[in-house]
Amino acid sequence: MIDYHVHTKLCGHATGEMVDYVKEAIRGELDEIGFSDHLPMKGGKEDNLTMTLDELPNYVDEVMSLRKSFPEIQIKLGIEADYVPGNESYIKEILAGYSFDYVIGSVHYIGTWAFDHPRKLEEWDKREVDLVYKEYFELLRKSARTSLFDIIGHCDLVKKFGHRPSTGLSKELNDTAQVFKEHKVALEINTSGLRKPVNEIYPSFEILRLYQKYGIPIVFGSDAHAPGDVGRDFDKAISLAKQAGYKEFVTFESRKKVAYKLDSKSPEGLNVPIT
Ligand code: ZN
Ligand code: FE
Ligand code: FE
Ligand code: ZN
Repeated sequence: MIDYHVHTKLCGHATGEMVDYVKEAIRGELDEIGFSDHLPMKGGKEDNLTMTLDELPNYVDEVMSLRKSFPEIQIKLGIEADYVPGNESYIKEILAGYSFDYVIGSVHYIGTWAFDHPRKLEEWDKREVDLVYKEYFELLRKSARTSLFDIIGHCDLVKKFGHRPSTGLSKELNDTAQVFKEHKVALEINTSGLRKPVNEIYPSFEILRLYQKYGIPIVFGSDAHAPGDVGRDFDKAISLAKQAGYKEFVTFESRKKVAYKLDSKSPEGLNVPIT
């Protein structure tokens, strides 16, 4: 199994040394751990949300050095990039400087509002929940259309604090699945929602089942911000994936997908490049 969504203390709001995340992954018998800390945001370090541009080379070096120190586990170099319309060329330029295995594109902002930030919670009271959902899914589609990202992160993060739309989302979800499929992005099953007020994996079973029908590939991520979170609740994530009809997950190497059987503990059963 793989954990592709792992932060480091460089972002300012995670704890523990990178080596401890790797040790935890080995202890949990994961086949791969992928670091995916927050890419520096345009405009610099704000509110301890991301590392700085100066820190990015150190982050990359540390992943490379851990890769040498721990040959018993595959260690991937990923990054989680915030998608905000207008920052495409900024992201593109940074990505070009490093050999990432994969890039997670995440929507955390609607306009300038960090809708998933606990300190921005009161803004929800000023908004119409249905409209927030609509805007969120529009941004998800936009993020996939940039073709900058391999994986779309926590693709129903908007539910984090438990706000629910008053109407069904089937049009939004179908439109989004269509765009994901066209742009060949994978989605992640992200267990961090279980540690948040909503107490649900991202995305929901309903979304996962729909995306499975569209053939959208999956990866697994804990969104660990502490070593103890690595691989957390993956039993639940795997069983959700199976219930939704998934038989495979994918891994990334130098931004190319490889599919593996969901059932085999060690991913040796199937090794089919799918891009
Ligand atoms: Zn974070
Ligand atoms: Fe995120
Ligand atoms: Fe994250
Ligand atoms: Zn995240």
